[in-house]
Amino acid sequence: MCCCPAIGNPTVAVAWWSISSRCTTPRLLSGTPSKKSAAVPVVTRLADGTSRQIRPWLIDALSVGLLPTPKQLATLIGRGDLMLHVDSQGYILNDRVRRTPRPLIEHGVLSRINGIIVHQTGGASGASSLSSYTLQNANGAHFLIDKDGTIYQVASLRRQTWHVGKLRARCVAEHRCNATELATLSHFSPTAEHHMEMAKQVPQRYPSNEDSVGIEIVGAATPQGVYETVNAQQNASLQWLITEITSTFGIPMTEIFRHPVVSRKMPSEAQSASW
Ligand SMILES: [Zn+2]
Repeated sequence: MCCCPAIGNPTVAVAWWSISSRCTTPRLLSGTPSKKSAAVPVVTRLADGTSRQIRPWLIDALSVGLLPTPKQLATLIGRGDLMLHVDSQGYILNDRVRRTPRPLIEHGVLSRINGIIVHQTGGASGASSLSSYTLQNANGAHFLIDKDGTIYQVASLRRQTWHVGKLRARCVAEHRCNATELATLSHFSPTAEHHMEMAKQVPQRYPSNEDSVGIEIVGAATPQGVYETVNAQQNASLQWLITEITSTFGIPMTEIFRHPVVSRKMPSEAQSASW
């Protein structure tokens, strides 16, 4: 693959960058100069094989030779100026994500994404999870991160997966329950608590099946429900995926949760996950 080429034909509709290891600075190969107000982001392909969307104003800047340094590029990604390319089927187009559809775990339309819930599978291998997702009545989340850090996208970002369960009352953790909420919570009923929460919107409640993306990390649990430690490769992939999804969909980092925070699960699930 080529590296560090000069700025090319600005009339080509797709901007091509190179950030391969031999380049110290991302380079725009070609792009379509456009006005700030013009149009939606266009698809951008990077020479490392990844694909993103890019804000038109940035193409303007790049087309006149204002090339970002890797540090600036990271800032742009964090700010949402560079976004993942998600296709019309709701799948990420990027070499770091393996498209592995498991349609049986999809349930209904996911019309908005307000947060991300991080899980561990409870199984020892990614293969066993991918296999289980082919069974009737199987449940999973949108992504699966294997032991070696491989990211599988197993469900569309346009579809719900059932990965959360009954919500805990967020007002309890944040010490702001009102008298009505406290009255409901005085009788232990996870179902009533969940219904109380679902009458609210994020961030008054935690993200639910109806408005969150789920990420499963492969990790076994003991019979007592103690999960193994998330390894460094898995955490690196998790951090990349969360950074990309939050910047693409405009999700605040305050809306990323480990599963036991939002629902009644074993406390060690995803405890060692970091992002
Ligand atoms: Zn979970």
